[in-house]
Amino acid sequence: MRRRVLLAAPALLLARPARAVVVEGKLEQGAFLRGRAAPGTRLALDGAPVRVSRDGIFAFGFGRDAKDTARLDITHPSGARETRLLAVARRAWLEQRIDGLPPAQVTPPPEVLERIAREREMLRAARAGHDTPEPFFAEGFIWPVTGRISGVFGSRRILNGQPRQPHLGLDIAAPTGTPVAAACPGIVRLAEPDLYFPGGTIVLDHGHGVSSTYMHLSRLDARVGQRVAQGASIGAVGATGRVTGPHLHFEIGWRGTPLDPETALPPRPET
Ligand SMILES: [Zn+2]
Repeated sequence: MRRRVLLAAPALLLARPARAVVVEGKLEQGAFLRGRAAPGTRLALDGAPVRVSRDGIFAFGFGRDAKDTARLDITHPSGARETRLLAVARRAWLEQRIDGLPPAQVTPPPEVLERIAREREMLRAARAGHDTPEPFFAEGFIWPVTGRISGVFGSRRILNGQPRQPHLGLDIAAPTGTPVAAACPGIVRLAEPDLYFPGGTIVLDHGHGVSSTYMHLSRLDARVGQRVAQGASIGAVGATGRVTGPHLHFEIGWRGTPLDPETALPPRPET
């Protein structure tokens, strides 16, 4: 499924191999993309600078509703400039109906609206408020837990018959207490045992604005500021927050834009 997209014309690539900018992954809505450029290259996606590590590694992503075209401005180490128009493939999203949720979880009572707003801001700051220079994401991602996929990224959601925000993570059903592994090395930016919708939640910072989020945890094994290795246990699967059963809600994001975790993960393991 993976293909390498060369962003330099072949002739240019042969003439100046060190200057190629290579993006790994499929250019499509929801995609998490990693790439490599000559050290010293500067990049901007739709006008916003994209951090390039000292070794020339970078990451960016396209949101669920990304437009058909994105503009990548490249400033080569020589100062030469190049603009590439990236064609972003559209995806079709599923519809998911969930019934039997407690009414307060679908339409929260007025007295918790302030709490929900405060928690949303905490999450936003944890995920989008860091531009850590180390490219931890270069290690790639592993499955944080294995289990049945009970919800995919991007689906339109109808809760107790009422349309709600699309689902912006991946749901993996597993028994309460199943250890949850850090999908990628990083720094813990949020560790909260009891948020209204997400329940027990951890946010990891993987550098350059790349984050992963783990929700509905029954237990947290990590604290804010801690550095975690890929595969380290950071908590356990649970049924806290808005859920119908124990599962991990797993998100990957870039600068606060949720991306489809399955574009970053290896193919689904057999369960
Ligand atoms: Zn979910």
